[in-house]
Amino acid sequence: MTKPPLTLYMAAPRGFCAGVDRAIKIVEMALTKWGAPVYVRHEIVHNKFVVDSLRDQGAVFVEELDECPDDRPVIFSAHGVPKTVPAAAQAREMIYVDATCPLVSKVHIEAQRHADNGLQMVMIGHAGHPETVGTMGQLPEGEVLLVETPEDVATVTPRDADKLAFVTQTTLSVDDTADIVAALHARFPKIVGPHKEDICYATTNRQEAVKAMAPKCDAMLVVGAPNSSNSKRLVEVGARAGCDYAQLVQRATDIDWRALQGIKTLGITAGASAPEVLINEVVDAFSDHYTVTVEQIVTAEENVEFKVPRVLREPA
Ligand code: SF4
Repeated sequence: MTKPPLTLYMAAPRGFCAGVDRAIKIVEMALTKWGAPVYVRHEIVHNKFVVDSLRDQGAVFVEELDECPDDRPVIFSAHGVPKTVPAAAQAREMIYVDATCPLVSKVHIEAQRHADNGLQMVMIGHAGHPETVGTMGQLPEGEVLLVETPEDVATVTPRDADKLAFVTQTTLSVDDTADIVAALHARFPKIVGPHKEDICYATTNRQEAVKAMAPKCDAMLVVGAPNSSNSKRLVEVGARAGCDYAQLVQRATDIDWRALQGIKTLGITAGASAPEVLINEVVDAFSDHYTVTVEQIVTAEENVEFKVPRVLREPA
């Protein structure tokens, strides 16, 4: 039987970012240096495939430091942690390695600097997301005001409207965040913040590539996890940029073939925590069903790399 033709657009950049790459390397190097088990507080990155493969190598994933024994190393995930977490590890004299992405750490430093300058912080982020919890946890409880939408800005009650600064989660929608920042500037003209927001290069680049790709596509799939903020944003960006069917899939088994019947063009991208092996699996699944022509939609080149912490570069 002849297979129908399908043009497969591949967004570039897509998939792993430098912060995710570094975090995974940190766990692997810790396992080599200290042997198993190495404890990891929270999923090192939001991807089940990555977590399962590290678990197979001897990593033990827990949600809280209390679940780790004193005498085994613990790694903090790429999303960052509140200050109380390394402080508790230090008090217990544990070996710990912080895999917080350096671009998240930069936001932590910004928040502390603003607080040191007497400004109260507003955080633009998603309630309960570990990165938001970690960034808000750089300052004492109750010091940071969280806003998730432009509407939230109207209900913020700062101590002094003239002494405010804002930071953002790194994996937000660029366009939604611009609306929230505009609302903050309108209500608090003296608010201090970054030039635009703190959204990282990887999030920005993946959203730009999707915006260029989506209008060409009958359907679009984002390879990523349901708890991955940047992956979920790519689905929204694709839908808003004109693609009628934009869906998140964790891997090929999630593809809804019935919903895709009759498509001639498909866009594929992947969140920053989705490994290339899963992207290839999805592409291979389409090659089994269609005669595929692959076209890359390249909107940026990335060559960012972050060093692992010194403790892992030294001999045991
Ligand atoms: S998405 Fe951005 S902030 Fe998050 S780990 Fe990757 S580079 Fe760092």
